[in-house]
Amino acid sequence: MVKKKLVLKNGSKIAIIGGGPAGTFFAHFASRYAKEIGINVSINIYEKKNFCVVGPGGCNMCAGVISENLFNKLEDEHIHITHVCVQRKIEAYSFVTPDNCVSLRHPVKGHIPNIITVFRGNGPLSSSHEENISFDNFLLDHVKIQGVSVIPEIIKELKLSPKQGGPVTIVYGQGASRKECEVDLAVGAFGVNTGMMEKFGKLGFGYKPPKTVRTCQCEILLNNDHIERVFGNRVFVFALGNKDIKFASITPKVGYITVNLVGKTDLTRNNLIAFLNHQAVRRLMPKDWEIPKSFCTCISKIPVTYAKHPFADRVVVLGDASISRTYKSGIEAAFNMAKLSAHTAFKQGISERAFMNGYFKPAKRLLARDNLYGIVMLKINDYISSKKWITNSQIAMIRSGRDLKTAKQINEILWNLLTGNVPYKEIFYKAINPRLLLRTFLVTGVAWTRQIRETLYACFSRNRYGNKR
Ligand SMILES: Cc1cc2nc3c(=O)[nH]c(=O)nc-3n(C[C@H](O)[C@H](O)[C@H](O)COP(=O)(O)OP(=O)(O)OC[C@H]3O[C@@H](n4cnc5c(N)ncnc54)[C@H](O)[C@@H]3O)c2cc1C
Repeated sequence: MVKKKLVLKNGSKIAIIGGGPAGTFFAHFASRYAKEIGINVSINIYEKKNFCVVGPGGCNMCAGVISENLFNKLEDEHIHITHVCVQRKIEAYSFVTPDNCVSLRHPVKGHIPNIITVFRGNGPLSSSHEENISFDNFLLDHVKIQGVSVIPEIIKELKLSPKQGGPVTIVYGQGASRKECEVDLAVGAFGVNTGMMEKFGKLGFGYKPPKTVRTCQCEILLNNDHIERVFGNRVFVFALGNKDIKFASITPKVGYITVNLVGKTDLTRNNLIAFLNHQAVRRLMPKDWEIPKSFCTCISKIPVTYAKHPFADRVVVLGDASISRTYKSGIEAAFNMAKLSAHTAFKQGISERAFMNGYFKPAKRLLARDNLYGIVMLKINDYISSKKWITNSQIAMIRSGRDLKTAKQINEILWNLLTGNVPYKEIFYKAINPRLLLRTFLVTGVAWTRQIRETLYACFSRNRYGNKR
């Protein structure tokens, strides 16, 4: 018997589970490719959150930095982020250590990067503004104009057909209600903060969710003049030598700063409080500032590995729930994966094999392998950040202006590492440049000798005065 080819055709129904970036970008590309191949399909996004409400309930919890690459890709797709959503334009990053702070700029002199900050939801709990400022809501509005329907319901279950290649069924509804709908393609864009991952894992087609860690974040209300003066158009990234913290940043918004902590393992509110109390953070706050009694805070997960087998006949999983970029530019990764999977669905078909060859294999080549380089780079960064004397010696070198070439090389590596602007592999090869290694080795060697000398001197003084006493 000849196996029927699984393809989308006139009248096909697509259900997208989740209206975050992965879901809306998939809908955007699906509308485009349907037009390109001349078929009419119905595209429904099922989203359980209401991005019009303020606070965590209407928010997809993230720092809200839109990378330059993503900004440019959105422009190319005629997705022009409305000015209401833009909180700040970012021109530089500040790298903060316990004793120092160095400003990092785009490696191309004079280039003002297209990096912006947004709120994913409609602002923090205490915010009051008239228009909806949510980036995710903006994306949903964008796809609605393209004819996509957004259904404010929760998907409870997905049922695979007992017949090979048969249509899949989604079960959805609020509260106890259970409505069913047969669809030709189900797109899992549900992120990692949902029980859907486990439900998909139990469907038996081989999907295994990515491993995750709990991150911690909050929005702190500050006087806007203070934000303007101290933070300006800079994202602050902290290397405070804390072994539990992998990445700590403060992102300026209008009237608020967003504090983000990503740990090696799950973080709690206590890590947040300890971070806010650190002298390097306090130095950036207004005089006599105290941690507010209540502020908008959330614990959200971030994927640290990628999913296994995120596809089956008529099913594809993308975004954080599938494969993303480790610790960086998750929204851009969602964009790239949405494009790849929608292209596969419309141009190659919706069978398991089509998704494996057209989507997942290229996705792994693009992201999974690059993430390995990222892990190595981040480990080196962790090591350097945990040794105060190395960090200080590198910063002193950048600042001194004595060796401009090395300073530029370090600026470029850190800039790319913090902004996620280029693949990790590229950063890795820049970092193992022999000239740079030799220079940093020399500077680190001098700092190390000084460190040993100081330690010996301290021991010697202790013994001498100790003996006298
Ligand atoms: C602390 C932190 C900071 C980050 N900062 C940045 C940053 O600055 N820049 C950046 O690019 N990325 C950042 N990221 C990563 C970024 O948030 C994610 O990569 C991105 O949101 C993934 O998009 P997604 O659509 O896959 O998932 P999500 O954004 O999580 O969207 C999933 C959607 O599915 C919905 N959903 C889930 N289950 C159901 C269901 N059963 N029925 C209906 N709807 C459902 C959810 O409500 C949600 O809206 C950060 C992440 C974290 C944790």
